[in-house]
Amino acid sequence: MKKTRSIFSNPFKKGTKLYSIFKLKCPKCQEGDLFLNKNPYILKDLDKMPLKCPVCGEDFYRETGFFYGAMMISHATTTLIAVIVHITVFHFYGWAIAPNLLSLLTILIISFPLVFRSSRAIWINFFVKYDPPKK
Ligand SMILES: [Zn+2]
Repeated sequence: MKKTRSIFSNPFKKGTKLYSIFKLKCPKCQEGDLFLNKNPYILKDLDKMPLKCPVCGEDFYRETGFFYGAMMISHATTTLIAVIVHITVFHFYGWAIAPNLLSLLTILIISFPLVFRSSRAIWINFFVKYDPPKK
């Protein structure tokens, strides 16, 4: 019987891109961690990644400046967050500038490490397919 993927199957299960992105795992084996320190709020380790996956050996730095592309993902994510924050604040305070700016700055500063890391995970997932090593 041919195995098909239903739209009702769990989109976050192992083997999917979303699993790799949300768990910040190697896109190829989905076992090794993309970042050396699991806590994104330790800012000195924010961008520290192993050169290769510790489990399957996938090259995380595929070429010089590879992760510059993640800035486009980060830009789009930040814009989406800004629009959502503005719509929410506008609902309560209208066009008042202070609540808009303060809430936007607060949320962007708090979410920056999460956006930074998930952008890198999304970017590398564009180029690497799930292909776990055979056991
Ligand atoms: Zn791996």
